[in-house]
Amino acid sequence: MRQQLVETLINKDIKDKNVLKAIGKIPRHLFMDSGFIDHAYQDKAFPIAADQTISQPYTVAFQSELLKITPEDKVLEIGTGSGYQTAVLLELGAKVYSIERQKELYKKTSTFLPKIGYRAKQLIFGDGYKGLPEEAPFQSIIVTAGAPYVPNPLLSQLAIGGRLVIPVGDKVQVMTLFIRKGPKEFEKHEFGDFRFVPMLEDKN
Ligand code: SAH
Repeated sequence: MRQQLVETLINKDIKDKNVLKAIGKIPRHLFMDSGFIDHAYQDKAFPIAADQTISQPYTVAFQSELLKITPEDKVLEIGTGSGYQTAVLLELGAKVYSIERQKELYKKTSTFLPKIGYRAKQLIFGDGYKGLPEEAPFQSIIVTAGAPYVPNPLLSQLAIGGRLVIPVGDKVQVMTLFIRKGPKEFEKHEFGDFRFVPMLEDKN
């Protein structure tokens, strides 16, 4: 079933061999609530705890491909959720730091990932809008929730040459890639529309 999912992604024009290999290897059914296990290898998003979702495999693949990760890259993920995207980043050889603002998910995923052999550098309970200044700079930053705007701390925590992949918008999000060309220069590329649960901000 996993191989069939990989074929589906190839047909949808995902090309990165390492990303496809990661998706072909990771047991997605283990990341899902028992009620949805039968659907684990469909190319669809599904509910997880705390009213959140495990992203659609196509979305995970699309974002991962845009990051162009090479082994040992330091990568920051905003929105750990089920940990599935985290596992993909780890399969790509990245050193992963991942932030989640829902305590329930943070706790669940922090115990689950190591159990199946996925060791992030750090899983953090906190607010992704702030990034993780103490570990910056990052070669890549990936946001897996829909951001109403691009948080400045994330841009400033990118290494020169680094890449930020972030879905931007309210109801629908435009997948957006920023490449840091210099201390104050960023190149911006926009891709198609996607739908994510919202990136929430604690305003006080
Ligand atoms: N990568 C996850 C996607 C989960 S959905 C997966 O594949 O399972 C997006 C996640 O972002 C949710 O778990 C949500 O709680 C989290 N999130 C939303 N706003 C956030 C913020 N400001 N900081 C950190 N995490 C946030």
